[in-house]
Amino acid sequence: MTKQIFRSICAVAILVLMASLVPVMGVLYNYFSTQQIEQMKVQLALASQGVEGEGAVYFDGLDTGDYRFTWIDVDGTVLYDSQSDSSVMENHLDRDEVVQALEKGYGESRRYSRTLTEQMFYCAQALSDGTVMRLAGAQYTIFMLFMGIIQPLTAVVLVALIISMVLARHLSKQIVKPLNEINLDQPLENQVYEEIQPFVNRIDNQQSQLKQDKAELEKAEKIRQEFTANVSHELKTPLHSIRGYAELLKSGMVREADIQPFAEKIYSESRRMSSLVNDIIDLSHLDSGAKDMQMEETDLYLTAQNAVDSLQSIAEVADVELCLTGESVRLQGIPQLLYGIIYNLCDNGIKYNHKGGSVSVDVAGTDTSAVLTVTDNGIGIPQQDKERIFERFYRVDKSRSKAVGGTGLGLSIVKHAALIHNATIDVDSTETGTKFVVTFPKNRENAQSV
Ligand code: ADP
Repeated sequence: MTKQIFRSICAVAILVLMASLVPVMGVLYNYFSTQQIEQMKVQLALASQGVEGEGAVYFDGLDTGDYRFTWIDVDGTVLYDSQSDSSVMENHLDRDEVVQALEKGYGESRRYSRTLTEQMFYCAQALSDGTVMRLAGAQYTIFMLFMGIIQPLTAVVLVALIISMVLARHLSKQIVKPLNEINLDQPLENQVYEEIQPFVNRIDNQQSQLKQDKAELEKAEKIRQEFTANVSHELKTPLHSIRGYAELLKSGMVREADIQPFAEKIYSESRRMSSLVNDIIDLSHLDSGAKDMQMEETDLYLTAQNAVDSLQSIAEVADVELCLTGESVRLQGIPQLLYGIIYNLCDNGIKYNHKGGSVSVDVAGTDTSAVLTVTDNGIGIPQQDKERIFERFYRVDKSRSKAVGGTGLGLSIVKHAALIHNATIDVDSTETGTKFVVTFPKNRENAQSV
C-alpha cells in the first residue's frame, strides 16, 4: 500500500509538473517574442535616424548581429542589405511591410522564410526622403525557446522530482502509519481515518460475534462433557445392581424365597436402563435438530388422546385419574415430538402425584395458537427448582424420581421438542399441584424449520 501511495503521489507530481510547463512555456514565449519585437522596433528607429543623418555611411562597420537591415529606394530597388549583395537583390516594393511603410510611415509583417523553417518578423519605416528602412529578424519559435531553456528546465524538473519523491515517501509513510498501528484486539480504541471507521466497526462486530460463538461453543462443550459424565454415572448404577443380583443368583447361594424379588430387581433396573437409553437417543436426536422429521398438519387433540390412552394403565396402577378435555386443534408440527411432549408431561403428572390424585390434559385453540395444558394435583415443584427442572438429569428429589422410574431427561426432551416448534412453556406450581402450559404457534412460518 505504501508503494502504491508513493507511486500515485509521484505520478500526480509529474503530471502537474508537465501540465504546468505548457502554460509556463506559453507565457515565456509570449513575453520573449514581445520583447524581441520591441527591441527590433528600437533598432529600426535607431538605424532610420542614423541613415537619415549620415546616409549609407551609417552602415559602415555596423555590427547588425542576427538582424538584417535592408534600405529600399522609393522604386523598390535595394540600396543596401546587411547580409546580401544589394545589386543582385530583387525589387522589394511588393513586400507587405514596405507597402505599409510607404502608405502610413510604418509597417510590419510576419512570414515564413523560404529557406528556414522559422518565422521571420519584418518591420519597416519610411524615411523623410521617401526611402524605406527595413529590419528583419527570425522570431523565436516555441521549439527554439524550449531548446534555449532546456538545461535550466531539466535541472528544475529534476529538483522538483527529487523533492516530490522525498515528500511522496514521507507522505505515504504518514498515511499508512495509522493503518499499521491499528490494534485489532481493541478495534474501537483506535484513532483511525473516518473512511476506515466502518471497517474497524465491522472487525469489532466480528470479534464480538467470535467471542460470543466461542463462549457458546465452550458452554456446549461443557454441557456435553457433563452429559457424558452423567450418562455414564446413570448407567453404571443400575448396571452394578443388575450385576450384583445376577452374581448372587449365579452362585446359587440365594434362598428360594429371594429369587423372585431378586429377579424383580434385575427386571426393574434393566427397564430403568432401557428407558434411560431411549431418552438419551431421543435427546441426541433432538440435539441434532430432528432433521429427518417432517412438519405436517397435526391434530393436537388426537395426539393427546393417543398419549393419554397409552398412559391410562400406568395411571391406574398409580391410582391417578387421567383425563382429556378440549377440542380438536390443528397445527403445523412433528407428530412424534408433539406426542413426546404430552406423554412426558402426563407421565410426570402421574409419577409426582399422590394416590387418588388426578392429571387433566386440555387442548384449546386460538386464531394463532394451539394451547396444551397439563394440570395435576400432585406434590408440586419448589419455587427454587422451577427454573432448573428442564436441565438434563436435574431432579428435585432424586430418590423419588428413581423410585418411580424417572431418568431426569423427560423435561429436557419436552423443552427441545417445544423449541423445534417455537412453542413456549409456562410452569405454575404450588404445593397442591403443577400446571404446564405449552403454547404452539399455528402457522408453519412461526415454527422453526427442521
Ligand atoms: P424425571 O425423569 O426425573 O421425571 P424430568 O426431566 O421429567 O425427569 O423432570 C425433572 C424433575 O422435575 C423431576 O425429577 C421432578 O422432581 C420434577 N417434576 C417434573 N414434573 C413434575 C410434576 N408434574 N410435579 C412435580 N414435580 C415434577
